Amino acid sequence: MGGLTCGTFSTAGAWHGRSPLRYDRAGSGHLYYGMSDAHAPMIPASGFHPDRRRFLRRAAATVAALAPIGAAWGRAAEERSLAFVHTHTGETLSTVYFQGGSYRPPELERVNHLLRDFRTGDVHPIDPSLLDILFELRTLMDQDRPFEVISGYRSPKTNAFLRRVSSGVAEHSLHMAGRAIDVRMSGYPTRRMRELALGMQRGGVGFYPTSDFVHLDNGRVRWW
Ligand SMILES: [Zn+2]
Repeated sequence: MGGLTCGTFSTAGAWHGRSPLRYDRAGSGHLYYGMSDAHAPMIPASGFHPDRRRFLRRAAATVAALAPIGAAWGRAAEERSLAFVHTHTGETLSTVYFQGGSYRPPELERVNHLLRDFRTGDVHPIDPSLLDILFELRTLMDQDRPFEVISGYRSPKTNAFLRRVSSGVAEHSLHMAGRAIDVRMSGYPTRRMRELALGMQRGGVGFYPTSDFVHLDNGRVRWW
């Protein structure tokens, strides 16, 4: 399988993007896993550089220009479907995970299984809002091909292993909470996928051109 994932070796034997663990503590005392993805380099959590602001505005404009597709998404929102192929297990899944105004637990179970920690077999609930991000993104991409999954859920054991064999793997990652996924889509430019995801402003977006995937999560809006 050609997929590389956060915390796995690249074909060049190097580790991909490192992220020192950092917590952001909001006034509520809530603990956030800011920049918590293992392959997220450190970037300012706030006070975006003007270039970064412009970049985000451009990305948002790109999505706005796709308003007709957005309208289609609105109509389709009563039924949300996704398709996956996992690059490490070879497993595939096509699912209507939302229908008639609610998520469908049996379908979510199938998603949880496919996106399990493929190293340990551990299954963890995947946050449905992460699936909605993927659904909206696929709608914007105007594609019905499956997302190729490089990494979904990552168990504490796997994360601890990755931390042992590499410096810079985050102690806490949104992958460990079922709130992050690394994907690409065969035949679709990964860079373009990233631009659309940025424009959605629904969470974190990481771009890994060498390994050719995009990290998506439903945490704070940020990108790298
Ligand atoms: Zn990731």
